[in-house]
Amino acid sequence: MNTVIIGGGIIGLSVGWQLARKGVNVEILERSKAGLSASRAAAGMLAPQAEMGFEDIELFYLCRKSLEMYPRFTDELFEDSGIKVELERTGCILPGFDRDDTERLRRLYDFREKIGLPVLWLTGSEAREVEPFLSPRCTGAIWIEDDAQINNRLILDALKTAFIKRGGKLYEEHEVEQINITGGKVTGLKVHGKDLEFDNIIVAAGSWSKQIKGLPDNLLPPVRPVKGQIINLRLNESCRITKVVRAPDVYLLPKSDGRLIIGASVEEMGFDENPTAGEIFRLLERGWEAVPSIYDLPIESIDVGLRPGSRDHMPIVGDSEINGLYFATGHYRNGILLTPITAFELSEWIASGNKSEALSGFGIERFYKETV
Ligand SMILES: Cc1cc2nc3c(=O)[nH]c(=O)nc-3n(C[C@H](O)[C@H](O)[C@H](O)COP(=O)(O)OP(=O)(O)OC[C@H]3O[C@@H](n4cnc5c(N)ncnc54)[C@H](O)[C@@H]3O)c2cc1C
Repeated sequence: MNTVIIGGGIIGLSVGWQLARKGVNVEILERSKAGLSASRAAAGMLAPQAEMGFEDIELFYLCRKSLEMYPRFTDELFEDSGIKVELERTGCILPGFDRDDTERLRRLYDFREKIGLPVLWLTGSEAREVEPFLSPRCTGAIWIEDDAQINNRLILDALKTAFIKRGGKLYEEHEVEQINITGGKVTGLKVHGKDLEFDNIIVAAGSWSKQIKGLPDNLLPPVRPVKGQIINLRLNESCRITKVVRAPDVYLLPKSDGRLIIGASVEEMGFDENPTAGEIFRLLERGWEAVPSIYDLPIESIDVGLRPGSRDHMPIVGDSEINGLYFATGHYRNGILLTPITAFELSEWIASGNKSEALSGFGIERFYKETV
């Protein structure tokens, strides 16, 4: 069985690597360089609890399962790449700064407590004991010890090495123009005007997944780009925050490489990837309100990425009514977090032919009756 993956982001690379580990003959076609795009711009938070709203419970359980799989994922990655990527249990604090914030947080806290999640409620002064760089205006906070983070850039480097070491073939500067389908099954795809034959195709082209030609209308994945801008500051003695701070409309994420990420905008701007003054100003202002001592930190760089957002903001992972056609896209704000479960479950599904129970409900068939 010849398998090809369209897209060399964290999703395509990780599914490809796991397939190669299982002995499957697999190629990845990437239209530019692998591991740039959204997967590089991401902050690397693995935060199922902090991200969860009231309506996202199924997604929350999927994210939590994926976080549990991270240690196995990084161990296997180390085995195959020699690159050690540490899961960092930094903990996460959600502070409020006025009555409105605090009431909203209190409701989120009550909901988490009701479904049995390990959360703590802190007063303003307790919150400042946990993270001394928080603004003294903090009136109360949720403390989540379990949420984690990871260096997503290092994972991408490790995945490329591991994939190739396991026998996978990575072709960069190879843009897939069309998927070929005949008689209800895939036959291959077109690159640089040439038809190539494959038995299985996995669409993992992130925000661009809907643009590839050849798919029937009902199988065009309803994925759009959702622009995200982040600012990388360099931590120094004037601000040494150690906890992830998720304040209203902004997060501050200290990384082990000495960066402090301030993020992230959530914008519907099509495929525009330009950083903009207004959003950067807003992020810095909100970040400064939460942690005033960021004021003197040097700015290192600004990153922009396009999150692949599906219509219901859940990932689209699994097979389809076309024989040999699979999807692994639409991971939106949680693509780094959902990488292990996507890679382990989808590769097993393809290699063994047995559908994944963990991924049930996340397939493209949930959109079949809608128009794109
Ligand atoms: C600012 C920001 C912060 C984020 N923070 C977090 C976070 O903290 N935690 C978290 O879990 N997630 C986070 N995310 C979300 C996460 O980055 C994405 O969900 C994830 O990277 C999606 O990975 P992907 O491989 O599907 O897409 P991408 O990384 O975008 O990769 C898709 C690849 O497909 C290629 N491609 C497209 N079309 C074709 C074609 N026709 N032929 C060949 N190749 C093609 C592209 O060039 C690209 O390399 C963040 C995203 C952004 C933008």
